[in-house]
This record gives sequence, structure tokens and C-alpha cells, in this order.
Amino acid sequence: MKGHHLLDVKVLGDGAMANVIKTMFNSMENQKHTLDHVSTNKHCLPHPTELESWYLWVVLGIYVAQVGLYYIEAYALRLRRVIASFFYRRRAKKRTLHLYNEFMRKRVGFLTHMRKKIRRLVREKKLSVETALPTILRYRFPCLFGWLKWFGLGKKQCLICDDNENKFTHHCTGCMYVYCRQCWRDMKKTCYNCDPVYTSEDTQTSDTSSSSEED
Ligand SMILES: [Zn+2]
Ligand SMILES: [Zn+2]
Repeated sequence: MKGHHLLDVKVLGDGAMANVIKTMFNSMENQKHTLDHVSTNKHCLPHPTELESWYLWVVLGIYVAQVGLYYIEAYALRLRRVIASFFYRRRAKKRTLHLYNEFMRKRVGFLTHMRKKIRRLVREKKLSVETALPTILRYRFPCLFGWLKWFGLGKKQCLICDDNENKFTHHCTGCMYVYCRQCWRDMKKTCYNCDPVYTSEDTQTSDTSSSSEED
């Protein structure tokens, strides 16, 4: 900030009062000041500099690594079992057999449970499948809406495990229900809905289960 200040007081008149005032302002005549003052807040302002490109690559790399770890984590955890099985082979074999038998036992138990449940529902005429509009359209008018399957719409679900319909799914010729390949094989290719045979065990158990459900 630069400039000049000039203070020049002129009192006109020759009277006594003018003389008094002239005496008072005598020392203020022709007062000159020069301004040369610099006032800035530059040192308070941030000083931006252009970001180097490798910083961006580092940040991008961190994000990619983070997303990748979500997928790799499962395999990394499985690696523990692989390492352990390398050192303790017998234990690993025992573990595998145990898991396999456990899985098969649960599978058989699950199928038995579903067989009884479905037969009970058939007997009580309560077996139904909730079908969405695309499914109804696709199966009622296959010529018009057959293309829905290309978009993954209008698919039925396995009566046992609710697995979505695919090219291996078995369509029962006697009813409207479908079974996935695994379930169809486990059921010995017998539709639980169409099979009219009821064993005494099924009837007894289903009665028990229905009474327990009612409780
Ligand atoms: Zn199934
Ligand atoms: Zn059937």
C-alpha cells in the first residue's frame, strides 16, 4: 500500500479568534507523510503443488488389494488346513472321512425329513409352490414367453432343496414339480408327490410331526 498524506490547514481572517486558531494549528501546517506499507496474509495461505502421478497409483493399488483380499481370504484360510494336512496326514484323512460321513448322514436325514413332510402335505392337499408371474407365463404360454429363461426368469425351484432350475433339472411328468439332479438321484428317481406309496413309518411320523407342529 503506497500513497501520500498532505495536511495543510489554512485559517482565513485577521480577528482575535482567527489569530488564536492560527496559533493552535500553526504546528500542523504543511504536514506531509508518505505511505509505503505492505500488508499480506500470504504466509497464512496453503501452497498447493501438483500431485505426482505415482501417488494416484499407490492409492489405486491399495483399493485393488483391499478388494482382492476379500476374495483371497477364503483361500488363505483354507491354506491352513492344507499346511496342517501336510504335516498330519492321518489326522487329515480321519477328518475328511468324518466330514464326508457327517454330510452323507445329514443328507439322508434331510431327504427322509422332506419325504415325510411332502407326503404329509400331499395327504392333506396342502402341497403348493409359490410361483411368480414370469414362471406362470413361461409354463402356460411356452411359445410366447419361452424367451424368459434366457434372462434367468420364470424358473421353477427344486421341491426338496429350492435350487433354481437348470438344464439338469428333472421335470416330473406326473405333476408340475421339478427336482434338481442331486435330489432326483438321492430320491432314487421317484417323485415324492406322485408316489402313492405311504409306509406306516411315514404315516406315523407325519402324524407325530403334524401334531407337534400344531402344538
Ligand atoms: Zn434339489
Ligand atoms: Zn411328480
